[in-house]
Amino acid sequence: RAGFVAIVGRPNVGKSTLLNRLIGQKISIVSSKAQTTRHRVTGILTEAGAQFVFVDTPGFQTKHRNALNRAMNRSVSQALADVDLVFFVIEAGRFGEDDRKVLSVIPEAAKVILVINKVDQLKEKARLLPFIDEVRKVRDFAEIVPLSAEKGRNVEELVKAATPLL
Ligand code: GDP
Ligand code: MG
Repeated sequence: RAGFVAIVGRPNVGKSTLLNRLIGQKISIVSSKAQTTRHRVTGILTEAGAQFVFVDTPGFQTKHRNALNRAMNRSVSQALADVDLVFFVIEAGRFGEDDRKVLSVIPEAAKVILVINKVDQLKEKARLLPFIDEVRKVRDFAEIVPLSAEKGRNVEELVKAATPLL
């Protein structure tokens, strides 16, 4: 199995930390010149049964609803329609307006894994399930994986969950 994966989310949710954690210790190829039609390849993770090609998408515009930002978000949507899988990253316990705006730009047809990062910051673990329910009201996800990119906790679960979806 092999496929293109986009890691998306508002600034500061931990996308770069997650990518580094995913490809950091493994053999990875990162080239600023590697291009697909719409994407820049940022890393490749080769597992026993699967190869994940991580790609960049142009940044989401979540600040103002003007014509230019809408057009830019349309081009993000088109880019995301091209990938095999989207990791939508949020912070545990925090699902705000900016997160919702990013989520709204992900095409309906895209396969999306909800990645709940920074679970190490969650004081009460019992709050995780109601939090997941809150996010799931907005959209259905192929998988939901709580993890800590920084501590490296449960990151291998994400790879496991993603593999059959490639
Ligand atoms: P990006 O803007 O989405 O790429 O986010 P970054 O990867 O740059 O991370 C933003 C901040 O969140 C940094 O200070 C990271 O150290 C921190 N961070 C990322 N992952 C975690 C995590 O799992 N737990 C905690 N506590 N902090 C994290
Ligand atoms: Mg980043």
